[in-house]
Amino acid sequence: MHLRQFEAVMKKDQKTSFGPDPRRQLASVADLIESDAGRDLFADFPRERVVAAIRSVLSDLREGLSPGDEAPAGETVMEMVRAYLSRSELDRIRPVVNASGIILHTGLGRAVLPPAATDAIAKLHSCCNLQMDLDNGRRGKRNHMSEQLLAELTGAEAAMLVNNNAGATLLILAALCEGREVIVSRGQLIEIGGSYRLTDCILRSGAEMVEVGTTNKTHLRDYEGALNEETAAVLRVNPSNYRVVGFSQSVSIAELATLKKRRDVLIIDDLGCGALLDMRRFGLPYEPTAPDSIAAGADLVCFSGDKLIGGPQAGIIVGRSDLIERIRRHPLTRMLRVGKLTDAALEATLRLFREPGQLPDRHPLYRMLCADQKDLRRQAMRMRRKIIKATAAVSVRVVEGESAVGGGSFPGTALPSHLLALRDENRSAEELCRALRMHEPPVIARIGGDEVLLDPRTLLPGDENIVCDAVAALAGLD
Ligand SMILES: *Cc1c(COP(=O)(O)O)cnc(C)c1O
Repeated sequence: MHLRQFEAVMKKDQKTSFGPDPRRQLASVADLIESDAGRDLFADFPRERVVAAIRSVLSDLREGLSPGDEAPAGETVMEMVRAYLSRSELDRIRPVVNASGIILHTGLGRAVLPPAATDAIAKLHSCCNLQMDLDNGRRGKRNHMSEQLLAELTGAEAAMLVNNNAGATLLILAALCEGREVIVSRGQLIEIGGSYRLTDCILRSGAEMVEVGTTNKTHLRDYEGALNEETAAVLRVNPSNYRVVGFSQSVSIAELATLKKRRDVLIIDDLGCGALLDMRRFGLPYEPTAPDSIAAGADLVCFSGDKLIGGPQAGIIVGRSDLIERIRRHPLTRMLRVGKLTDAALEATLRLFREPGQLPDRHPLYRMLCADQKDLRRQAMRMRRKIIKATAAVSVRVVEGESAVGGGSFPGTALPSHLLALRDENRSAEELCRALRMHEPPVIARIGGDEVLLDPRTLLPGDENIVCDAVAALAGLD
């Protein structure tokens, strides 16, 4: 039975007609369990789940049936049970194909981990030396290697790992600025998806926020004017997911660092997307990098592990070792620490940055960023041919379009791409998109105008045929 039919039966309103009570005609739990369909379900789902699903479906049916209605036959009930079980399977976390053209798609887990990182995680099916010094057998430092790599790659004295960048910012402010003032430009009071607001973060850290400048312009003298004996830090925030354009000005880390001559203040840089390299080498606009920030005089820099590093979700703090030691002693550090899976995946990902020239070959994020226009077009044309061969039910053409970096980075920067545009006379683009999501594995597309757009840029090796099969399967659905 189709899911929508099932939902329709479930939603059916109570009717007030007369006749024999159909609830008595419903099959019993025991009969359904013993039926052929029941035995089939036991092969696919755990026994307890099947029995619970039968009970739940029967109870919903009993509620929805009125005198005069016809009770569904046992086979129909069991089809409903299968639909019920399959629907709850949809919610399992599992691989999906990202054909959306948004490279760092937060809804799809942001960065695709490089094979080196997934291999590192897979190897952890045994115990590991997460927190043991193998040389002397004593308690060792967690995340030691990742932190060493981060220091090496950013030129910072020290580094530490936490759960995510929001946590990193909170921890820095709580450990170093509690009860004192933190100066921030009004142009940098950022909100990120998932209701993270810098203002909340500062408030919860116990530091007091002092806003300076205006939405579009903040000058060095604005910061200077706000400095006083209560000032603990100046916080610069990278406008990673928005841009202030036109009549605008912000103050660089190098300029902010000159404030240290006047007062003993910390310069903290919330870099957000965490570029370790100049992204211009991959054809993107300039984006501040962690090494630049450290070199320019930031005392601490924090950023995400799953944005431009393309690793697992993590928050990274790099900077002065005396400050990092103070942060480590704060109680929140223990509450924000990362597990072995994150540590292993991040360490393996960071190693790849030792050879930046190899990144496009070894790291899916960088392969997608560097994808060649001609290759994208060739792939789109090839997919179009495969789809046309398989079905005539949807119209498909190749159009010029754009991919996005996503993940709250490079706002307004579009990467030219070649897309497949699908259209079906009888179904809306939303319906086609939903049908592709219901495919196994799910295929995530996007909508442009009244067409469904599929972008080859974000496909991984092996995804191409899955997408073509999923599109071909659309023909069979009503
Ligand atoms: C992404 C981002 C954050 C939040 O980072 P998470 O790792 O998602 O917690 C905070 N600040 C800036 C500037 C960001 O770009």
